[in-house]
Amino acid sequence: MQDNTSRVALVTGGSRGIGRACVLALARDGFDVAFCYRADDEAARRLEKEAGQLGVRVMSRRTDVTDGPAVRSFVEEAEDTLGPVDAAVTAAGITRDNPLVLMDDDQWHQVLDTNLDGVYHLCRAVVFSMMKRRTGAIVNISSVAGVYGHASQSNYSASKAGIIGFSRSLAKEVGRSGIRVNAVAPGFIDTDMVAAMNDKARKDITRTIPLRRMGRAEEVGDLVAYLVSDRAEYITGSVLQIDGGITI
Ligand code: NDP
Repeated sequence: MQDNTSRVALVTGGSRGIGRACVLALARDGFDVAFCYRADDEAARRLEKEAGQLGVRVMSRRTDVTDGPAVRSFVEEAEDTLGPVDAAVTAAGITRDNPLVLMDDDQWHQVLDTNLDGVYHLCRAVVFSMMKRRTGAIVNISSVAGVYGHASQSNYSASKAGIIGFSRSLAKEVGRSGIRVNAVAPGFIDTDMVAAMNDKARKDITRTIPLRRMGRAEEVGDLVAYLVSDRAEYITGSVLQIDGGITI
């Protein structure tokens, strides 16, 4: 990629948390941004306005990443409105935690459908156009749970490990076409996803993190913005952990 002026980025799960921080970091770097989300129209409108104030074009669409044709329409609409896609970030994700012995089929499939199929759907929808233009950067949000596993998260860990295998395979396939594909594996990041924890659980976890705090969504957004920029032109197939050292 040459520079970030008038370039287009797509973000799934952009309305809240890490995806939202990615939208803002990319907009700050000069990308026009299209993001999708599942349900929270109000949060999406607020973000469209906030990111638009950074002087770039921003659009959002309610699009469920589990729905392949809907994701393709989202990508087509974004390309018609903003232009060809230079960067794609998949941040849409959910948890449905349970020990395996208690897990039901819905909990398994909802997590795999959203976290892993969602990544496939977006990457499948953007990759051909990137190959034709011989440029592009993809960042898929995995998790340290996908690298090391996490009790009561066999569904989530499987989806996040799947993202790593997928990203590395795709990096090998499309490197010769000038496209880079990386995965980011956050540790505990203070978003709605971890807000459900009670105070004691948060304190217990924080004690196990060498940097003694949870991460901020903005810190992940900055890493993603770096990975899609020219400064990361020789990085592909990597899994970058951003976890305060919790996995040391
Ligand atoms: P949040 O719950 O804060 O936000 C999730 C976002 O994903 C929302 O914008 C939500 O939209 C969207 N989303 C969920 N399901 C769908 C769907 N089916 N289709 C489209 N959009 C969807 O999560 P985080 O920001 O914490 O997490 C973002 C990513 O980072 C996830 O992939 C998560 O697994 C990963 N991650 C998070 C960590 C953390 O500690 N927070 C740690 C490691 C990884 P809406 O608001 O409309 O529902």
